[in-house]
Amino acid sequence: MKIIIISRKKTFYSTGRIIAAAKEKGHKVLFVDPLKCNVFLGEKGLDVYYRKRRIPGSDLVITRIGNSLTTYGLSVVRQFEMMGAKVINRSSGIVNSKDKMRSLQLLKIKGIEVPRTVITRNPENIVEAVKMVGGVPVILKPLYGAQGLGVMLAESVESVESIIGTLWGLEQNILIQQYISESKGKDIRAFVIGGKVVAAMRRIAEPDKFRANIHRGGRGEKIELSKSEKKIAVKSAKVLGLDIAGVDMLETSKGPLIMEVNSSPGFEALEKVTGEDIADKIIDYGVSLVEKLHNKRI
Ligand code: ADP
Repeated sequence: MKIIIISRKKTFYSTGRIIAAAKEKGHKVLFVDPLKCNVFLGEKGLDVYYRKRRIPGSDLVITRIGNSLTTYGLSVVRQFEMMGAKVINRSSGIVNSKDKMRSLQLLKIKGIEVPRTVITRNPENIVEAVKMVGGVPVILKPLYGAQGLGVMLAESVESVESIIGTLWGLEQNILIQQYISESKGKDIRAFVIGGKVVAAMRRIAEPDKFRANIHRGGRGEKIELSKSEKKIAVKSAKVLGLDIAGVDMLETSKGPLIMEVNSSPGFEALEKVTGEDIADKIIDYGVSLVEKLHNKRI
């Protein structure tokens, strides 16, 4: 099968692992850096050119679109979708997950529990907004963000006002979110592929830190999710329209709260902690989708 992998760098751990797994299974792999593509609409239709050469049709496209290149990367992904390739994850799912408010809105409307969250743009509303999420301390996070960057814990209304004021000045929208103190410094990452949780870990922050991201120094430990946690993780990925998703949740006595759903989840730590071959599972899933499609056509 011909497989295209869209990512900024072959050397990223997860990208490299996906390429290696595809090759090992005998597939033909083309690595595509979206920033080196020309997305072309001409008389003959839609094409993507890569380093001046037209990319021939392919069966499967696996996207790894990080935060830095969402808009441009998405037009590349959309072009492949419209050219008829099976694309995982599709642009619509990536769009849904990148904007944290959008993803929480979509989850909440489908009955999935999320931390209380407010977004406002009026300085006069900040005090009210903090009250709405249960008072200080509150979590502040940029609308677009990953790996825990820019996620802050504000202990007083004054600091909320000063942080938000500064960020508004930089044209950044900020979510004000209920701080789930029960799960201080811990969260759960569930990795979903094609409607199944294939691996999960609990991430534990460094002592006295509240962000459990591995990129912020957190460590992982393998866990087996309960049936209901698995169900919520799978439903979250489905609601956002993602084939592959890293679903992050906070544990509370009333059950898990979904914090965010990543459309391009890295899996270096997860593979190490759980011993699961995530790259292999991604390829198997993508290939099975294409085969199903072919069988339908025959
Ligand atoms: P990012 O997308 O940048 O990783 P997250 O929303 O996942 O941002 O937040 C980063 C980390 O901060 C999480 O892994 C979690 O440990 C902690 N965190 C985020 N939101 C909350 C919250 N509402 N309550 C408690 N801890 C939180």
